[in-house]
Amino acid sequence: LEGVFIVEEVDPVLERDVLAVLGEHNLDCPVYGKFDGTFPMVHEYNGDIVKESFNKVICDLKDDEEFLEEYKSEYGNDFDGDLIEIIEKMEFSDGLNELIDNIPTRAPTLCAGCSHRSAYFAAVKAYQELGYDKSDMIFASDIGCYTLGISPPYETADYLLAMGSSVGDGCGFSIATNQHVMSFIGDSTFFHSGLSPLVNAVHNKNKFVLTILDNRITAMTGGQPNPGIPVDGMGDEAPAISIEDIVEAIGVKFMKIVNPHNIKKTVDIYKEALEYDGVAVVIARYPCTLIKGQKKKAPMVIKDNCVKCLTCVKTLACPAISYLNDKVVVDEALCKSCTVCIQVCPNKAIGVKKGD
Ligand code: SF4
Ligand code: SF4
Repeated sequence: LEGVFIVEEVDPVLERDVLAVLGEHNLDCPVYGKFDGTFPMVHEYNGDIVKESFNKVICDLKDDEEFLEEYKSEYGNDFDGDLIEIIEKMEFSDGLNELIDNIPTRAPTLCAGCSHRSAYFAAVKAYQELGYDKSDMIFASDIGCYTLGISPPYETADYLLAMGSSVGDGCGFSIATNQHVMSFIGDSTFFHSGLSPLVNAVHNKNKFVLTILDNRITAMTGGQPNPGIPVDGMGDEAPAISIEDIVEAIGVKFMKIVNPHNIKKTVDIYKEALEYDGVAVVIARYPCTLIKGQKKKAPMVIKDNCVKCLTCVKTLACPAISYLNDKVVVDEALCKSCTVCIQVCPNKAIGVKKGD
């Protein structure tokens, strides 16, 4: 091993671990990452930043006579500083090549059992059951895990402008177009910057559906509390601010609170909300699956009467359900027992695993 590049955003956690392993085994191998200054400690990375960082090392190599000699004897020509050229010429073992060829593309997705997935599933089903086409809909999204609604099969995040913007620009679209507008905002983002545009929406008599995805945490940034829960940032007891009390106080006349894992109920509420002539607020409330201390319940199993219609795989897209080797399977370690797949399967072929 001649060197390791570690391209890692935020804190250099992996890099620290790799350095520890190398140290433990007394391995003399350069690690190019944040600690040695190859990659910047701050900022989100983009192609230019990564390329520039790689170039710092490549430029060093161009002055490294030993490396140049080795390169020439190996490849028969001079090194021109092109990293891609090096990578293309690298020889991997057959096993690694096979692995590389078979790595499936994996789009970022919501966690197994995530209540946002259930809310999106229900929202899509509701507009479809009302006979609306996708082109009749505008989905305004906001900043949080739920922006992942952008991906198929949901496609419930058409755009995202800024923190809290889903409420204000949702109102704008409801005036400027004759499409149905559904805005989605998380509980933390609602407290941060969703309140004032909701005041304006009521005052301006806008017609749109706002879902407050209340998963009782600030999930995307690592699980910080928000004003809706009775604990402050230091872990001390604090007054919880009620989202429903705020929504009611603002003057919203249509407000429903639902556990989005109850698909039928959520679909019915969305259908009512989409037909309501005014501001309709749905509070989709269920705790994030990553909140610590939740008891692991029995996972799901696919029963023998599965006809492999793939409705569960294609329309729900829970990462715990896969189609592998001509079989639909549930990954028990990932399954969070939300039971949504049971409600989605048209053949009653998913059940709770018994006997564990
Ligand atoms: S939806 Fe039901 S029947 Fe269809 S593939 Fe999934 S488990 Fe099988
Ligand atoms: S119960 Fe079904 S939908 Fe929920 S996490 Fe498990 S496999 Fe996924």
